[in-house]
Amino acid sequence: MSVIDVSRHDPPIDFLLDAVRGEQDCFYCGEALTSPAIHWMGTGFNLIVHPGCCVELVIRLLRDVYQIENESRIKVTARTLPELRRRLMAEEAR
Ligand SMILES: [Zn+2]
Repeated sequence: MSVIDVSRHDPPIDFLLDAVRGEQDCFYCGEALTSPAIHWMGTGFNLIVHPGCCVELVIRLLRDVYQIENESRIKVTARTLPELRRRLMAEEAR
């Protein structure tokens, strides 16, 4: 993951800058991207979203995980939450 911000002194690679200069739409809302934006490189495509849209997307993805847990015997969050907590604390300590 990376943050695309045209105001930074060491900008990311050109295609990401072009994306936030209006050449690409947000993956989540479909509106033109602006700076700063959030970029994730996937397998075969790049996901770029507005910061607020990133929050909305994550909430909906986790809601889907919650639904799977409630409708099946698959337990994802019980296994991953301690890891998430540890990684968030490590990030905050930086
Ligand atoms: Zn958006």
